[in-house]
Amino acid sequence: MPLSITNSILEWYNSNARCLPWREQPDPYRIWVAEVMLQQTRVETVLPYYQRWMDRFPTIIALSDASLQEVLTVWEGLGYYQRARNLHQAAQIIVAKFEGEIPNDPKILNSLPGIGKYTAAAIASIAFDLDEPVLDGNVRRVLARLFDLRIPVSSNQAQKRLWQLATSLLPPGRAGDFNQALMDLGATICTPRQPSCPKCPVNQMCQAFTLGLQNERPILKQRTVIPHYTVTAAVIQQNGCVLIAQRPPDGLLGGLWEFPGGKVQPEEDLDTCLEREIREELDVKISVGEPLGIHHHAYSHFKVTLHAFRCKLLSGEPRNLVHDAIVWARLDKLDTFPMGKIDRQIAKKICS
Ligand code: SF4
Repeated sequence: MPLSITNSILEWYNSNARCLPWREQPDPYRIWVAEVMLQQTRVETVLPYYQRWMDRFPTIIALSDASLQEVLTVWEGLGYYQRARNLHQAAQIIVAKFEGEIPNDPKILNSLPGIGKYTAAAIASIAFDLDEPVLDGNVRRVLARLFDLRIPVSSNQAQKRLWQLATSLLPPGRAGDFNQALMDLGATICTPRQPSCPKCPVNQMCQAFTLGLQNERPILKQRTVIPHYTVTAAVIQQNGCVLIAQRPPDGLLGGLWEFPGGKVQPEEDLDTCLEREIREELDVKISVGEPLGIHHHAYSHFKVTLHAFRCKLLSGEPRNLVHDAIVWARLDKLDTFPMGKIDRQIAKKICS
């Protein structure tokens, strides 16, 4: 049976492969960037960012030579900023240690920043034609349905079984095509909700479909409740400039610039929170003025509602106590400072 599943999927791919820019010129650098951008992000979202990235950093040397600030600015809006920092760092390692050539050994690839087992296998199979199976969210879902996997897909036991299945289906010499075919099948036909089973090239061999269980597979772990935080941000302007602060390089939105502020504590109102945060972060006293908007955003592990206010410096000279840097930025230069989604919306508002 595995052979006919493999052949049917490959045959389907021959006439249904998606036209994607990294497939038109499949060099290792372009494939690597695409695979990193596609982590936790849909193809449609990635396409304009990919084009912008390739226009600005067409080669690994161009990426390696760029400053982190430039890299984060080009990535801005795509989220999960650690991926951009890792690409930049890995490019510098590849230039320094491998003469700018991306290594074709999955183990070496896996040792580079931001390249996990999946991305290493994707690069090795698609760019270097090595017989390496891949297991991303799409592939996992297709296999869990095809073989009616009855345990939660994120469990160790399921992961082991899925890697075995992906390996057993792999056609020697055509792993790159087969892996991409599975990804495309998962993205276009075997979708998370309401898969289009009648159009599927392997529906005759699909155990979940045969049993009418395609909507119950894969089995997912119960979602945990996502915490929600209320936060505040201060827009402090002076002489045509606004005070912004750079977040530490590691962690959420690392290296990006923001309007200072922070989380509202229990029993605290918005004004008190902002006055306290600014005192703790910048060692100055402010008065909280006109509201500038309420912004909602969902990150991977929590949600925030952010209240932005115009604020006035009452006393003290801002000192950097918790950020990597603080700067009085000219309003017409704010777009050269990479920012997360909410801070960019505030920046646009005060510049309009
Ligand atoms: Fe997915 Fe349906 Fe195809 Fe099975 S038959 S692999 S559930 S699309």
